[in-house]
Amino acid sequence: MNTSQSAFNIERIRADFPILNREVKPGVPLIYLDSAASSQKPQQVIESIDHYYRYTHANIHRGVHTLAEEATAAYEESREKVARFINAPHARQVIFTRNATESINLVANAWGRTNIKAGDMIILTEMEHHANLVPWQVLAQEKNARLEFIPITSQGLLDLEEYRRLLQQSPKIVAFMHASNVLGTINPAAEMIHAAHEAGAVVMLDAAQSAPHISLDVQALDADFVAFSAHKMCGPTGIGALYGRESLLDAMPPFLTGGDMIKRVYLKHSIYNELPYKFEAGTPAIAEGIGFGTAVDYLSQIGMQNIHAHEQALVAYAMERLEEVNGIRIVGPSAEKRGGLTAFTMDGIHPHDVAQILDTYGVAVRAGHHCAMPLHDKLGVTATTRASFYLYNTFEEIDRLVEALYKVKAIFG
Ligand code: PMP
Repeated sequence: MNTSQSAFNIERIRADFPILNREVKPGVPLIYLDSAASSQKPQQVIESIDHYYRYTHANIHRGVHTLAEEATAAYEESREKVARFINAPHARQVIFTRNATESINLVANAWGRTNIKAGDMIILTEMEHHANLVPWQVLAQEKNARLEFIPITSQGLLDLEEYRRLLQQSPKIVAFMHASNVLGTINPAAEMIHAAHEAGAVVMLDAAQSAPHISLDVQALDADFVAFSAHKMCGPTGIGALYGRESLLDAMPPFLTGGDMIKRVYLKHSIYNELPYKFEAGTPAIAEGIGFGTAVDYLSQIGMQNIHAHEQALVAYAMERLEEVNGIRIVGPSAEKRGGLTAFTMDGIHPHDVAQILDTYGVAVRAGHHCAMPLHDKLGVTATTRASFYLYNTFEEIDRLVEALYKVKAIFG
């Protein structure tokens, strides 16, 4: 099977990713099916970081010399690019953080500690990644607030009827993932946000697994807070973003404090900087920020619709092929309700053994709880094996995955 979308030239895309040429060991080419953990980087991103360090590195924002001005302009231009990528009304609503985890911690701390009181209700879901679970647990413990969870159905979808019942209890915030890193489920974010707003709640959307794969429009979603990481979307590690509604960000106290986030400092108090700098203390990840801008340009140029269509075709094919293998059980919904990943168990074989044997065939997949232990508890398994796809993956690679899984079965008899 091969890809034939005209706007989507898979050979040309693959040629942009130098790492895809490497062999894992002599004669064994890399088949990278672990992009949900972290994507590979195109040469455009690698070169933009290289160029920055070779020609324009200096600390940003306060310098008056040429390099400082160039570095500041490049970093702020990246913010504009990320803002455009998610259709934010203004770049000052895009705060650069280290990753999605830090973005969520920022909200749980700066918004949460100001707005959550004893007895208040916080709605999460049973499918959350630990990044969108533990910060709310800590907040709830500190404030004596109440956590409630939208259950998942047997098909791996959120139970929206139960969600509506929970909303009747006037929650303060609803925090949920846009796309699941285990089930693959793409949750109906716009509908859920609308219902939360009608109930008077603020919404934190964890877009770590959606921003890389589907067109994200924060205005169409009417989102309050949206978190994502560059490293899952062709960008560098060490940089992520938090989008926030301006009125909420304005009213929030800072999260981390120190240099750069202030306008005026006195010995006993300080006046904080304007957005987005109020939330960006200290020297930021400048090169990474610039690489992030190049990454979203790269994705936009290929087109998020094309990327999503390619991944949908890949995941449908992968599920069809995996279902041929006796003893494989896929978790999560049918292909049309999910993004480009599939996690599964193999009867009688531990996922770590599966992943280890696949590695000998060059196939990189992830095995474990994927930072979603409560979800695995609910599924009644301790771990799954996850194959996740991105714009550079091919149908042939899925064939290699399935061939290697037959080898795993042969080894374990
Ligand atoms: N949320 C989801 C759904 C994720 O898949 C991940 C990454 N596995 C995160 C949050 C956290 O991302 P990061 O580790 O980049 O902060």
